Parts: sequence; C-alpha cells; structure tokens
Amino acid sequence: MSNAMRNPVIETEEHRALRAAVAALGKRYGRDYFTRIVAEGKHTDDLWNEAAGLGYLGVNLPEEYGGGGGGIAELSLVLEELGAAGCPLLMLVVSPAICGTVIARFGTEEQKRTWLPGLADGSRKMAFGITEPDAGSNSHRITTTARRDGGVTSRSSAAENGGGWILNGRKVFVSGVDIADATLIVSRTEDAKTGRLKPCLFIVPREAPGFGRSPIPMELAAPEKQFELTLDDVRLPADALVGDEDAGLLQLFAGLNPERIMTAAFALGMGRYALDRAVDYARTRQVWKEPIGAHQAIAHPLAQAHIDLELARLMMQKAAHLYDAGDDTGAGEAANMAKYAAAEAAVRAVDQAVHTLGGNGLTQEYGLASLITAARVARIAPVSREMILNYVSHQSLGLPKSY
Ligand SMILES: Cc1cc2nc3c(=O)[nH]c(=O)nc-3n(C[C@H](O)[C@H](O)[C@H](O)COP(=O)(O)OP(=O)(O)OC[C@H]3O[C@@H](n4cnc5c(N)ncnc54)[C@H](O)[C@@H]3O)c2cc1C
Repeated sequence: MSNAMRNPVIETEEHRALRAAVAALGKRYGRDYFTRIVAEGKHTDDLWNEAAGLGYLGVNLPEEYGGGGGGIAELSLVLEELGAAGCPLLMLVVSPAICGTVIARFGTEEQKRTWLPGLADGSRKMAFGITEPDAGSNSHRITTTARRDGGVTSRSSAAENGGGWILNGRKVFVSGVDIADATLIVSRTEDAKTGRLKPCLFIVPREAPGFGRSPIPMELAAPEKQFELTLDDVRLPADALVGDEDAGLLQLFAGLNPERIMTAAFALGMGRYALDRAVDYARTRQVWKEPIGAHQAIAHPLAQAHIDLELARLMMQKAAHLYDAGDDTGAGEAANMAKYAAAEAAVRAVDQAVHTLGGNGLTQEYGLASLITAARVARIAPVSREMILNYVSHQSLGLPKSY
C-alpha cells in the first residue's frame, strides 16, 4: 500500500528519485527522533541541517541564489516525505515556501542576495506573520501599520534620506519566531491619495528594538512554538519593505498559495504516517481467529483514508503544477482545494488510525494520540476549512456572500 503511494507513476523520474531520497533521510531520523526532540524541548536542527546539506530545503529557490531551481512541486514533495516518516519540518512551510518565494519574485537584487542563499542552504530562517488577534480569518481587518519614518513621502526619497519605516501592531500564533533570523510581517501602509490601507510586507529582524514576542502555550507536540508578537515603534530601514508598496495584495498571494500547498503536504505526510502505523497494527493484532485488519469495520475506513489521501495529493500536485507554471489565479483555487482536501483526509486518517489501535491508540508508546491535535492544525491554518468553503462558494460557484 504505502509503496504505491510513494511511487506514483504519474511523477517524473526525477521526482520519484527525490521522493525516495527524502524518504530514506526521513526514515533514518524517524518518529522516535522527533518525539525525543519535542520531549527535550529542543529543535530538529540535526535533521534540518542534513536536509539542507542535501539541497532539499531550498529546492524551490532559484539556482543563481543557491537554490535547486525547482518549484513548489519539489518542495511539497520534500515536506510530504519527511512527514510520512514521522518528522515534518514545519518551517519549510514558511521559510523557503512563503518568504523565499516572495523575496525571489518581488525582492530587490540586494534583498535576494542577502536572504536567498541562507534560506536555500538552511543557515537562515524566516517566519511569516499575518494573523492578528482582532482580525483572525478576516485579514482585511489587520491593523499593524507602517508609516514613513521622518515624514518622507516615497520609497526612493526615503532611501535617499536614509529614512525608513516605523511599524506598530500585534500578531498572534506566528510560528518559529524564536528560531527565525527575521519575520516577514504583513502590515499596512496608507495610500496617499485615498487614505485606504494597503497590505505590505516587511522584513523584521528578530532582535529589532520594539519587536517583542511571547510564546503561546499550545496543546501541540511540536518543536516549533507559536508566538504573540508586539511591534512597538519598530524602526526599519527603507529596504525592509519587500516588493512594491502598490502591489501588496498580489505579492501577498504569491506567498499564500505556496503556503496552502505546503500545508497540504504537511497534512498528507502526517496522514500517511498515521495510516501506515494503523495498517501495520491491523495486520498483526489478533484477538479472534484473524488479525483485526480482516474485519471490514477496520479495513474499510483505512481503505477510505488511503483513497482520500491519494485524491488530496492529486489536487496538491495540480496546485503545485499551476503555481510553478505561473498561473497564480488557477493555483489560488487549486491550492485552497488541496489544503481543504488534505486537511480533511489527514484528520480522518489520524482519527481512524487511533481507533484501529484500540487502547494503544491513546498510549504515549504508540505516539498516535498527539497527532489528533496536530492534524487539526491543518484544518484551521493558514486558512480555515470554512473560509475555503466560502472561497469556493463565492469564487468557484458564484454564490452570494453572507459576511
Ligand atoms: C499551530 C498554528 C500555527 C500557526 N502559524 C501561523 C504563522 O506562522 N503565521 C501566522 O500568521 N498565523 C499562524 N497561525 C494562525 C492561523 O492562520 C489562524 O489561526 C487561522 O487563520 C484562523 O484564524 P483564527 O484563529 O483567528 O480564527 P477565527 O478567524 O477567529 O475563526 C474561528 C472560527 O470561525 C470560523 N469562521 C470565521 N469566519 C467565518 C466565516 N465568514 N464563515 C464561516 N466560518 C467562519 C473559522 O472557520 C473558525 O472555525 C497558526 C495557527 C496555528 C493553530
């Protein structure tokens, strides 16, 4: 079963080779490594560094800046396989996928040279902060604001005057800020003509004065922590702004589509890991004359989980393909659908896996129960199940909005 999932014939020879190599790396570390790291309150640095050395972490970034020259198709495959081995690297979703993509597509030459080689070889990480306590799913409501430092009126005059930006606001649930060299913060600037607030992206170094963080206690067994952030008169140089001030939304979505595709990969890996454990158990656990896997009440839900994961992966591949081909609009719909399908498939696969193990499903020894919470993350973040259903209702089906 799992071999069929790992070697789908629709993939190119190169993708299959990459999948096999990443799976072999993941297997060498495995779930025990991940669980130990979490229990010790450490980070998955050994795995991160080894994966980086093999070129897996920057596989989507341009070759001229040290990346592999591939796309989100390759990076999502890396994350899926590490997850299927029980050791997903969450920071892949934000650092090379969102931040690396946005800088590669919209950054200045200097920003690319400053950041991309480090993001590609894993020596530097970047977190991504958009969520705010009073905005949540409604990111049109974010209030973190950037204003010109010293009253200069344009980017070029700001640069000439050595001026920059002052950021104020709050963010919540931002992952990995403590281990990231900087956080890409979604902020707003005021349109000089209309007074309306436009989304803009700023690189905020971890130790910038006024940039505060406090960890949020989460019921999650993961090495990456989530943080509440405060930006209190954070002064940034003019070149902290990534991309064009007037094309913020387009640039933002260039990063959000990879984030959704990568969240799908994260969910798929986890779902596959849980399903594999359940199938192994169902094959051997015997309390009547046949192993429990012979009972259809056990076998069929596992078969359904396998089908759901396979279908979700097809959608993820479609989204990655469209994105890598430069079709941002087509990728938007497909990335939403892939994230939805993969999260729902993972939640169901984990639930069924836990149930398959009976009492052992809830023991620490078998390590499946903690995935119940972990799988839910993919249903909530980065965009919730309901917001995707809203998107499809309105954008794909043309139905009216209720909010
Ligand atoms: C583990 C974890 C890691 C995260 N990492 C990051 C990160 O690195 N960076 C970052 O910026 N954010 C991060 N987030 C935040 C995440 O993106 C948000 O939690 C998510 O966008 C939902 O926002 P919210 O929690 O404020 O929920 P809310 O927006 O308050 O929604 C609550 C519930 O109401 C529903 N709802 C809201 N509006 C509607 C509507 N119009 N119609 C129907 N239902 C609706 C939602 O679907 C949800 O079920 C992370 C979250 C978690 C849990």
